[in-house]
Amino acid sequence: MTEFEVRNPATAAVIDTVHDHTAEEAAAQVDAAQAAFEQWRTVAPRKRAEILMAAHRGMLDDAERLRDIIVAENGKSQADAAAEVAYAAEFFRWYAEEAVRAPGEYGVAPAGGVRNVVTRRPVGVAVLITPWNFPAAMATRKIAPALAAGCTVLLKPASETPLTALAIAEILQQAGVPEGTVQVAASSSASKVVSAWLADDRVRKLSFTGSTGVGRRLLAQCAERVVNTSMELGGNAPFIVTADADVEAAVEGAMVAKFRNSGQACTAANRFYVHADVAEEFVAAFGRRIEQLQLGDPAAGAAIGPVIHARAAAEIRELIDGAVAQGARIAHQAALPEGEGLDHEAFVAPTLLADVPADADILGQEIFGPVAPVVVYTDEEDMLRRANDAEVGLSSYVYAGNLQHAMQIGEKLEAGMVGVNRGIVSDPSAPFGGVKQAGIGREGGSFGIEEFTEVQYLSVDWSAV
Ligand code: NAP
Repeated sequence: MTEFEVRNPATAAVIDTVHDHTAEEAAAQVDAAQAAFEQWRTVAPRKRAEILMAAHRGMLDDAERLRDIIVAENGKSQADAAAEVAYAAEFFRWYAEEAVRAPGEYGVAPAGGVRNVVTRRPVGVAVLITPWNFPAAMATRKIAPALAAGCTVLLKPASETPLTALAIAEILQQAGVPEGTVQVAASSSASKVVSAWLADDRVRKLSFTGSTGVGRRLLAQCAERVVNTSMELGGNAPFIVTADADVEAAVEGAMVAKFRNSGQACTAANRFYVHADVAEEFVAAFGRRIEQLQLGDPAAGAAIGPVIHARAAAEIRELIDGAVAQGARIAHQAALPEGEGLDHEAFVAPTLLADVPADADILGQEIFGPVAPVVVYTDEEDMLRRANDAEVGLSSYVYAGNLQHAMQIGEKLEAGMVGVNRGIVSDPSAPFGGVKQAGIGREGGSFGIEEFTEVQYLSVDWSAV
């Protein structure tokens, strides 16, 4: 039996080993998922809701253990990990409440006689693929609506963070999810496992969260069997501060939008567009906060941990160097951690880049790290054109003193989500997702469950009955 290692990003130490699923094992999981689907789809929505509610309670009862697993395998701070557990658990409660609200339609065809009966039914066995940056929430944001809709699921967590997914699967089992309904395949070779699943005609759904590049490849793979897909892909969020914005509030929002998870969030503010009238004040206040950030081992309580591994850190440092070579200035930086036992190569100093040229390369890609490039603007139309000049449109942020102005900017932004005078947009009750190459479909809210259903319409000849 082959296993692979899971490492703590803060220390590079091996914290566990997990079973490395083979393609044959993955193929066998589809048999079990299909058999479970025949049963699970017939379970009364109220019963499915009760099981999801028990899973919600189960996660909260086990919140500290889950937090510590996330800290150990992902490297985020304890506060970020605790917030993720609460957010992740909420998807079970939200979809417990949605499970019993199956919508449908009934109508008379315009010609009379015939009646149209429209229902939604579960799409079938669903493959779920999740990234390492939110190992709990990205899993529950998919599992909860899938189970609520009556689907069974095959989950492939990121190879860096399989332990959280395995712990959640246990909680679901304890909550009463029947065998075969939720199966996890940890693997050191994503494509081996996922290809075995997608090669099977009984798999009818792929819900993927990850990078746009991998999303494109999976869309091509799904085209072969016309598999229903939902895609939550990369971001490159603009964060706009207008001339009349409350600068203190904008800095508060910027700290959350930029430094949650050490900047490793698809919703992370990637580019700051700040009006010239408030730029100096914003940079000074934001910079002061950045310089105060304490980096270190999150297991020991540090506010900011490492990024996921030394390779990612090296790429982020290259982006900083590239921006400086193009004219940007390191205006403020936090201190790197000292001491023994840490993998120092995996830490990136939170950095504020000022005087960033509006066409600098760093603005054109997802940084996925604790770096905040600030561009000063005077012409709003020109700034909006630049803000929208990205192949992805996931989240965006605007701080303005006048709400009407903020809403006007929000409506002009090519983004699936806009935080208005807020530095966070994630909410289980709201539709999460992007436009352009940031994805297809929505997770959360009443939309999330629709992704796991398909419409069936029965044309009934009433007169003949
Ligand atoms: P990634 O490299 O695309 O990996 C995501 C998942 O896909 C992992 O489980 C990975 O497995 C798997 N995978 C990789 N190659 C595959 C293949 N050929 N076939 C099947 N599965 C494959 O992304 P990441 O680095 O983990 O996550 C960061 C990215 O996710 C960022 O771009 C971020 O913006 C995006 N993200 C988006 C959202 C959203 O809701 N829109 C949320 C969070 C993150 P392995 O780990 O085994 O490689």
